[in-house]
Amino acid sequence: MNAIETGEFRKLLEEERARLANAVEFLHDESGGSLEDELGEIGSGGTDNHLGDTAGAAYDRELDQGLEEGAQQTVDEIDAALARIDDGTYGTCRVCGKQIREDRLHAIPWARLCIDDQRRAG
Ligand SMILES: [Zn+2]
Repeated sequence: MNAIETGEFRKLLEEERARLANAVEFLHDESGGSLEDELGEIGSGGTDNHLGDTAGAAYDRELDQGLEEGAQQTVDEIDAALARIDDGTYGTCRVCGKQIREDRLHAIPWARLCIDDQRRAG
């Protein structure tokens, strides 16, 4: 019945978790530095261009804070997903109970809703 290869996703989750945990630690220790280069691959794209030069350092600080919170939140999501692997509910939509498509899980291994319910949740 369980068609999902959880071992593969556990590996994905653990790798991503390690990467994000490093980032959180780094952001926490180095507040104030210029971190965009190191963290460019973690932050979502499209953060520049439209703000111009006036935002300056305050914007950088906010961005770092946002990255840290976002990364920490994702680490929490990953921990929850790992717990679901352990209790055998991984890959099952929390709302409708159907299996979440594997391509979605590959994109977001910690997803807890199927794509339909995610859309409905906004
Ligand atoms: Zn669903």
